[in-house]
Amino acid sequence: MSDPTPLLDPDERVLSTLNQDGSRRWLRPKVAHGKWWKRRAIVGYGLIVLFNLLPWIHINGKPILLLDVMHRQFTFFTVTFRPTETLLLAFLMLGLFVGIFFITSMFGRVWCGWGCPQTVYLEFLYRPIERFIEGPNGQKGKPVALPRKVLKYVIYIAVSFHLAHTFLAYFVSPKVLFSWTLGNPFEHPTGFGIVVGVTALMVYNFVWFREQMCILACPYGRLQSVLLDRNSLIVGYDEKRGEPRGKKKKKDANAALGDCIDCNWCRAVCPTGIDIRHGLQMECIHCTECIDACDNIMEKIGRPKGLIRYTSQHGLAGDPIKFLRPRTVLYPLVIGLALLAFTWRLTSRESALITPMRVQSAPFAELQNGAIRNTVAFRIENRSVEVHTYKVSLEEGHQLTAPSFPMTLNPSQAQEFTLIVESPLQSFSKGQARVTFLFSDEADFEIEVDRTVLGPFTLSSTQ
Ligand code: SF4
Ligand code: SF4
Repeated sequence: MSDPTPLLDPDERVLSTLNQDGSRRWLRPKVAHGKWWKRRAIVGYGLIVLFNLLPWIHINGKPILLLDVMHRQFTFFTVTFRPTETLLLAFLMLGLFVGIFFITSMFGRVWCGWGCPQTVYLEFLYRPIERFIEGPNGQKGKPVALPRKVLKYVIYIAVSFHLAHTFLAYFVSPKVLFSWTLGNPFEHPTGFGIVVGVTALMVYNFVWFREQMCILACPYGRLQSVLLDRNSLIVGYDEKRGEPRGKKKKKDANAALGDCIDCNWCRAVCPTGIDIRHGLQMECIHCTECIDACDNIMEKIGRPKGLIRYTSQHGLAGDPIKFLRPRTVLYPLVIGLALLAFTWRLTSRESALITPMRVQSAPFAELQNGAIRNTVAFRIENRSVEVHTYKVSLEEGHQLTAPSFPMTLNPSQAQEFTLIVESPLQSFSKGQARVTFLFSDEADFEIEVDRTVLGPFTLSSTQ
């Protein structure tokens, strides 16, 4: 006979988005209007505008942010990097990562609650659309009329389709995106495929996956336990003041009870479905919804606000909060050094980058006059913010044919080109000769680039 007792029978819910039987627990958080909600709404809608405008903002003809994977160049605040500029990118990444550690150690999950696109779009765009269309029935988990549901999905798909275009604008220039949008999708299947794929992922995320992104998928959320310390800013419930909790209308009705009247409003508004009164939890994204909810209740029952508030673990224990501690000194120090190194590297780099390239032709040709002809290829990139005209010359004894020069390049523009070099046979040793090209522009850029050219491996050339 089979044992009817399940192997795993948890006493309580193991995940805030799962029921005890393992089925999905759908969350329909209410909204608590209050001072923090107003502040978050201002920041949230400001960020939505910024996320949508950022790819379109240019300064001196250069984008503020463009991750041009196709041409392998990345522009941050109008400065363009190539993946080969490893040191620059390493300093930038080091500063960025340590900056995240520093902000988290000081201000906790302020990014999750206030700035992350997942929170911002879910709480200030997708959920408000849902609440507006589904009405009170949807909020209570009751059946919603089919036309309302269809309308919600149509709007979700339209919004996600627009956001997918915005997402793509971070990777291709807005000009290209605009021409793609107006053109036939089958002429640019990759771009079209990305837009369709991202739209599908967004609809899946904002319709179904939702808060599970923060609870299960996001690696930053998992790092909280090591990034936070007992002085870091958190949203916390003041257990000393709130417990023992119990229902009462006015504080004086039962003096033995704490200030928490167990109204459960803090749970009802929580977008990750947790109870803040259980202490600091990994699922808490520090969104401040429960602060507003509880403050509204405290106001109604005539008790001081702040039973749930921004504080720290030391603050909740009644200990002084220390701002100066090893990590708040070391992190800024590392960030400062990384920024210094980055600035030094950026200001000391040449205004143009010359990269040798391979040529797909015969290695060399012997001419009737005895000279050896080689074709060499380069790539030149104007890394400055001005238009420059470049020229190239060769050391004496060699002849140069440079049909592409003088070459004028716009800021960030790059061009590949070939040069034809004719060298006397005597300059070759063991079938090789070293030639030096001098590249310069009309300003102060000047650089010598050595290249090895090939010739016949004859006895005379070995001497
Ligand atoms: S909202 Fe405040 S009073 Fe109500 S249950 Fe939560 S902590 Fe207690
Ligand atoms: S516990 Fe409070 S701050 Fe944390 S996620 Fe829930 S509502 Fe937001």
